This record gives sequence, structure tokens and C-alpha cells, in this order.
Amino acid sequence: MSEWQKILKDDAVATLDKLAEKFGHDVIDVEALKPAFDNFQMRITPSALEQIKRVGDPMWNQYVPTVQELDIVDGVIDSLDEDADSPVPNITHRYPDRVLFLVSPVCASYCRFCTRRRKVGDPEKIPLNQYESAFEYIRQHPEIRDVIMSGGDPMMLSDRRLEYLFQNLRAIPHVEIIRIGSRITSHLPERITPEFCEMVQKYHPVYMNTHFNHPDELTPRVRQALDMLARAGIPLGCQTVLLRGVNDDPKVMMKLMHELLKARVRPYYIYMADQVAGGEHFRTTVQKGLEIIKALRGWTSGLAVPHFVIDAPGGGGKVPLLPEYVEEITDDSVTFRNYAGERYVYKQPKQSGACGSEPIQVPDIVPIAVGQSAASKAKERSSKTGKVTRRRRSAAG
Ligand code: SF4
Repeated sequence: MSEWQKILKDDAVATLDKLAEKFGHDVIDVEALKPAFDNFQMRITPSALEQIKRVGDPMWNQYVPTVQELDIVDGVIDSLDEDADSPVPNITHRYPDRVLFLVSPVCASYCRFCTRRRKVGDPEKIPLNQYESAFEYIRQHPEIRDVIMSGGDPMMLSDRRLEYLFQNLRAIPHVEIIRIGSRITSHLPERITPEFCEMVQKYHPVYMNTHFNHPDELTPRVRQALDMLARAGIPLGCQTVLLRGVNDDPKVMMKLMHELLKARVRPYYIYMADQVAGGEHFRTTVQKGLEIIKALRGWTSGLAVPHFVIDAPGGGGKVPLLPEYVEEITDDSVTFRNYAGERYVYKQPKQSGACGSEPIQVPDIVPIAVGQSAASKAKERSSKTGKVTRRRRSAAG
């Protein structure tokens, strides 16, 4: 048994009694929490436990069951209707050129907001002996160029099984990219071993989409695991779920994005929490997500600004949402506000003659007076760049 498997077996908290031993019976009401526990199993690894600083903090909320999980208002079991897009066991084929390949039924820690709580934790629901039909499906569909291994957590598989998956996928010529969706770096950084890092390099390009929801998850040990992956040439992205009581605060999100970038992880998505039964108490409003994106865009580097998306209920796929910057679009111009709320006008190209017969002039962006005239702003730009900026139109309201 490897070290990480021993840690999982011996040191993770996986029963309510053990949880009560750790945090006290006055805090953990075993009887009251039993229905939530029976509904979706619990396991909290030492790494996740270390991140919990006090009862009810963002880490606690992510992993400790609560009776709120039993309040079903409009949550559904398979909120993304993934099972409807599953042509063979373990495959979800929703988008044109990529598939989700569920390779592991288990996770190191179980997140109480999990969208796939209907499947994870139960080995029978993602059968490990049914990979062949998945490989065959991918072989038969040359349009599939990107395979996203998910679960559960693929990194819960042994290196041997992971290598078997990589080998089979790499034997399919049209599979260009393999991605691993995994929360293991936060939950069980000990899983990232030199042996894994050496093995994976034979199968590049392999990407990893990590999952972090709060800056406190990036402990020194977690950063070390991320560093090992980056050194193994794995481009790292991060998916974050917007969760009430965890990260529904622009300052927390800004800090998270900065800490991720410092660890060479590129923020990729912030998801609205799905309408999943059992996780409804984590949901916030869409306005909160837009407020967070507005607090990031322009105020920090673009690298730190992920896409904010709703995974459309019923299987519609990811839909990006943006705060409203555009005020008006006409054939002549587009009026919009920048990150600081200042209004600008971008002049549309003049379309003269037959389509494409004349070169289109790309106009300058002309700032409109907001406490400063367009001319003075243009002059300021000229003095900074040393270039003369020709003013294309007069300032208008
Ligand atoms: S790691 Fe991912 S799949 Fe596993 S419980 Fe957490 S959210 Fe669900």
C-alpha cells in the first residue's frame, strides 16, 4: 500500500463518531446528522482537516455534513442531466469535440455541495470494469479530440490503473488532449508522488483541472504538490464553485485567484452552484457572481479572472455570464463602460463598397468625458506613448 493510501485508510475521518471525537459531541450531533450522512457519505482527509480553523468556517462548511442537506426546495438529483447524455457507461458526450470519462467512483474527501453526489462514494455507480465500452465509443467517434477524466476523483486510482487509461487513450489517434479533473491536490497532496510525475510525462499533453474554493486551501504542502505537477509539465487550471458561506465575497475570491497564480495554477471557471438536491444551502444569487467578476475584471490582471458560468440545468452546458459593460450598440458605434465605470465609445468600421473589397480601418477607442475631456485624455496618452493619437470623433454624451 502506498503512503497516500495509508493516510486515507488510517487518518481520514469517515464516521460521525470519529468526527464527534475530534470536534466534540456538543458540536457534532451524531443522531441529527445521521440522515445527511446516510444520504451522502463523509470523508475528510488530514489535509482538509488541517484547513479547518474553527467550527462553521469556509472549510468546515465544505466538508462537515449539516441537517440543511435534508431541506429539498427545488434541487434535483441529476441537476445537469448528465445521465441523459451518456451513450455508454462512464461516458458523457455533451459537447461536439470532447467527452467526460468517469473513471473513479470515489474521492479523498467528499464535498457537501457535490453535483455528482448521486454517483460518487458508491463504487457500483461508476464501475471500474466497464472502461472497454468507453474506449470503444471514443474510438468510433473521430470528432472526440479531448477526453476529460473525471469521477469521483481520477487521482484516487493507482498509478498502474491511470497508466492503463493513458495508454488506451493515447492509442486512439484522434485523442489530442487528456485532461484530469481532480481535487486531490487540496484533499490529499501526498498523492502527487515523484513516480506519478515521471509516469504522466510519457502521455503528454495531459492537463489537470484542479478545484480550489478558498485561499486557505493553498497550504505549503498543497503548494508543493502543485509545484511537482507544474514541473512535470502539466498545465494547471482551477475550477471554483461559488458557495454561500465559503467564497461569496469579492475579497476572498480575489485572494484565491492571486494565490492560485502564485502556485502556477490558472483560474479557469467560477461556477454557479448547481441546483443539486442536498446542496441547496450553498447557493447564492447570480448577481453575487457578477459582482465578484466585476470586482476582479480590470482591478487585477486578466490572468486572475476566470470565466463565470452557469452549467445550465437540464444539460444545456456551460453558459458564460458577464457583468453588463455595453450600454448601446449601433451601426456607427458601441458605447460601453470600463471597469471603473467610465463611459467610452468605440467607433464601428465604415463598411463601404462590396463586402471585403476595401480594407476596413480599425478606429481608435475614443474616451468620452468623465470628469476629463476626450481631448485631454488623448493628449495624456500621446505624452505617455510618445505617439500622436489622432482624434476620430468629438466627445459625445
Ligand atoms: S472532489 Fe469533486 S467529485 Fe469529489 S465530492 Fe468533491 S466536488 Fe464531488
